[in-house]
Amino acid sequence: MIDKTFIDKCKNIFGPENVLTDKAELISYSYDATPGIPREIPGVVVFPENTKQVQELVILARQTKTPIYPRGAGTSLSGGPVPLSKGVVIGFQRMNRIIEIDPDNLTATVQPGVVVAELNNAVAKYGLLYPPDPGSMATATVGGTVAENAGGLRGLKYGVTKHYIMGMEVVMPTGEIFRFGGKTVKNVTAYDFTHLFVGSEGTLGIVTEIICKLIPAPKYRKSMIAFFSKLEDAGKTVTDIVRNHVIPATLEIMDKVTIQTVENYAKVGLPTDVEALLLIEVDGMGQDSVLWEAEKCVEIIKQNNGTYKIAETDAERDSLWAARRAALPALAQVKPATILEDATVPRTKLVDMLVAVQNIAKKYNLMIGTFGHAGDGNLHPTLLVDPMNKEEMERVHKAVDEIFEVALSLGGTLSGEHGIGVAKLKYLKNEIGRSGIETMRRIKQALDPDNILNPGKLVPMED
Ligand SMILES: Cc1cc2nc3c(=O)[nH]c(=O)nc-3n(C[C@H](O)[C@H](O)[C@H](O)COP(=O)(O)OP(=O)(O)OC[C@H]3O[C@@H](n4cnc5c(N)ncnc54)[C@H](O)[C@@H]3O)c2cc1C
Repeated sequence: MIDKTFIDKCKNIFGPENVLTDKAELISYSYDATPGIPREIPGVVVFPENTKQVQELVILARQTKTPIYPRGAGTSLSGGPVPLSKGVVIGFQRMNRIIEIDPDNLTATVQPGVVVAELNNAVAKYGLLYPPDPGSMATATVGGTVAENAGGLRGLKYGVTKHYIMGMEVVMPTGEIFRFGGKTVKNVTAYDFTHLFVGSEGTLGIVTEIICKLIPAPKYRKSMIAFFSKLEDAGKTVTDIVRNHVIPATLEIMDKVTIQTVENYAKVGLPTDVEALLLIEVDGMGQDSVLWEAEKCVEIIKQNNGTYKIAETDAERDSLWAARRAALPALAQVKPATILEDATVPRTKLVDMLVAVQNIAKKYNLMIGTFGHAGDGNLHPTLLVDPMNKEEMERVHKAVDEIFEVALSLGGTLSGEHGIGVAKLKYLKNEIGRSGIETMRRIKQALDPDNILNPGKLVPMED
């Protein structure tokens, strides 16, 4: 527990200017971007400047059995950094240095508090790209996205965060400093610790340094938007594109509710009588191959009764993407809060999932707009809610239960990118079964025997 002695020790470790104890400040660290989840006001918030300070905090927390809640930018959509008891929040805003960009080994070594977009701006000067691009990349940190194994719009072609992490430095719950992986393209020494820690949601160790893999930035791209009066045609376009061996960098979908809400909000010129739109971007290093891929997409759109518009200039591309960028803000202004889920299904089940969400919306008399990464089968059914309306929230919870039930019955997963955190903990057993839960508990207990790191997240410790 946190008392005056604990806080004095924190001030000694971090310097008084890097320790927050004021109630108003502490309250702001009891939130992330997830509405309607349990939360507690932390006892103290600290901002380390180096690994040694993180280590000293972990040793202090272990001695006093104090929970530690690691925090990046607090954009988690599953309650990841939210304190569940009066523990200590450790924020990484001051460990935000890009330590090295190595264009010969195609790596960047960074501290966890580096913002994803800033990393990309820095490597762009070398003609390089760090592909993971969550919608939150202008604020989300590399540490937070590593802990969540975040994905993004480029996931279909370029993969997600786990594909771009080559090594790490981690402060273990015992206080040991553990470095693994490195700059080599190949490394099969020992267990694959990198993949164990990516996506571990701050429950197994505190990440203090990260080696990221970079790729040459594609030189050419072509964007288009396509409209469909039947959901089935949009879904078939998605699968036909991939079946014809075109892997777009982005292949996004918006349903009718989202299209109408975006148009109402942003007036970007979308037709409001269509059932779905697809936003497609192909990219690559060769102009001819990019044009061939774009032509193939157009051919497939036409075969599936779609109409389309191709962006000929960067300005036209920006205006096409404005619709996608407006999706969440447009939905968010309809009601006081949004619950943004990320149930994910095999690509071939996309339409089944979209139809199921529409039926669930009707059944519970709720407004749900669905958009998302169609190419990955990763949809974002977005429930527009008023958390103060108890009766509505009861319907919302039932609707969310059913959305996950359908996703699993279609061979999908609870989360394509937002993680389990606290928000989806109760559903975890439905996907990974008893043996999955037991295996996670054993890993957690082996690495964090005192259960001090982000307790109550990702791993259900009790039935
Ligand atoms: C508008 C919006 C759009 C989004 N779009 C996407 C998207 O397209 N794709 C996607 O995947 N996600 C998306 N997200 C959610 C996504 O999970 C986060 O944006 C991102 O992964 C979290 O980064 P963060 O720095 O905010 O971390 P936080 O939210 O602060 O923390 C996330 C998790 O990381 C842990 N953590 C943080 N730092 C460390 C560390 N140094 N060591 C160990 N654990 C740590 C925390 O304990 C927590 O469990 C979106 C969120 C918002 C609000």
